[in-house]
Amino acid sequence: MSGKKVTEVRLADAAGIAEAARILDLGGLVAVPTETVYGLAARADRAEAVARIYAAKGRPSFNPLILHLSDLAAAERLAHFSPAARALAEAHWPGPLTLVLPRRDGAEVAPAVSAGLPTLALRVPAHPVMQALLGAVPFPLAAPSANRSGFISPTRPEHVLASLDGRIDLVLDGGACPGGVESTILAVRADGSLAELRPGPITLDAARASGARAPIEAPGQLERHYAPGKPVRLGARSAEADEFLIGFGPVAGAVTLSARGDLTEAAARLYACLHAAALAPQPRIAVAPVPDVGLGRAINDRLRRAAA
Ligand code: AMP
Ligand code: MG
Repeated sequence: MSGKKVTEVRLADAAGIAEAARILDLGGLVAVPTETVYGLAARADRAEAVARIYAAKGRPSFNPLILHLSDLAAAERLAHFSPAARALAEAHWPGPLTLVLPRRDGAEVAPAVSAGLPTLALRVPAHPVMQALLGAVPFPLAAPSANRSGFISPTRPEHVLASLDGRIDLVLDGGACPGGVESTILAVRADGSLAELRPGPITLDAARASGARAPIEAPGQLERHYAPGKPVRLGARSAEADEFLIGFGPVAGAVTLSARGDLTEAAARLYACLHAAALAPQPRIAVAPVPDVGLGRAINDRLRRAAA
């Protein structure tokens, strides 16, 4: 299960899920749809399996992975939940919220999952396919996005194959991901305060509503990410001759994030539009302005890093 291999694609029905569970049990790699983007899953309790994720993605080993669990009880076996963390989990799980919490002594998680940090990033995903898979295996799954490191995240099976064909064992085909941008990542401190490490579908206002205090700290993530391999110009109201324009609202483009200016639709279409732009003949990409509120903050965060 290493090096060049044949990547199978299977429908995410009962037989496909059983095959995925069998491959994961053996330490292999499976791409799985979630409500955010496709994840590249491996069993989190085996160092060799986790090492394969980093190798297949070409991901730097200092960039830790998110642990996916079937429920809060499973997460509480691995990490210490303060009352604020538990309130957040109860309000938003299953769903696109990742919590960074102190790791428990004896948690059966390979150190490479958290890149050696004393914390773990955990979430309970809502997508029925990922839920079914987590229910079919007796271990947690480590799963970053199923793309080569630094490139555009996948929201469809063909996006996964475009960058990982021949490098992973299986793609579970569950169609397009409904959400389209990665989970919100919040670090929850012992005093109940929050640090937003990555904006996402759960806004800070929604998180605060669950009782946690949320001063915003600097997002400490990789500056260049989600890159389509061409220069990207943001805030464009029209296209130059050599640009492929991604529209939004009144700015029509070659494709649009959302003609009616809807941020939920724009999030779901974001990576498909970037994939289309990457494949287009034009050497440059331009993107229409997107309002920086609510889910728009997550979209603009990804766009800024695509353009960096
Ligand atoms: P991805 O798996 O590609 O969605 O990226 C996961 C993100 O979670 C990375 O940007 C990491 O920096 C972040 N992350 C994972 N674990 C931790 C942790 N223990 N502390 C802080 N950030 C984390
Ligand atoms: Mg990623």
